[in-house]
Amino acid sequence: MADCIFCRIAAGDIPAKVAGRSAGAMAFHDLNPQAPIHVLVIPTTHYGAASDVTGPAAAAIWTEVMGLGVSVAEDLGLVEPGYRLVINTGRDGGQSVGHLHLHLLGGRRMGWPPG
Ligand code: AMP
Repeated sequence: MADCIFCRIAAGDIPAKVAGRSAGAMAFHDLNPQAPIHVLVIPTTHYGAASDVTGPAAAAIWTEVMGLGVSVAEDLGLVEPGYRLVINTGRDGGQSVGHLHLHLLGGRRMGWPPG
């Protein structure tokens, strides 16, 4: 989508610090990190939110996004200390960018419950 910032990052029109890629997903460092390591993983195809990933293509999309998130976590040395994967969805979920993205957070001890 032309007016979607994450579609434009996926297309290479807006620069990002890339952390990894797979056939259908891309990982890049968050501009406003909430932890020492804060990476976003997006499907390169536009889905507005997690709730839009339904139907026959859903399993493949989740495999791409979650698979790349776990792979980048390993690349960044987060397996032993641990990390958090978060998907904010919709208004109450705190989603601010309307393109599905998985947050990979690590490098510090996370609190629970989340804010
Ligand atoms: P959310 O609030 O779950 O929708 O998360 C959106 C995230 O996108 C926030 O953590 C922002 O800091 C991040 N963000 C917004 N624009 C960019 C950008 N151009 N490059 C990297 N991260 C971005």
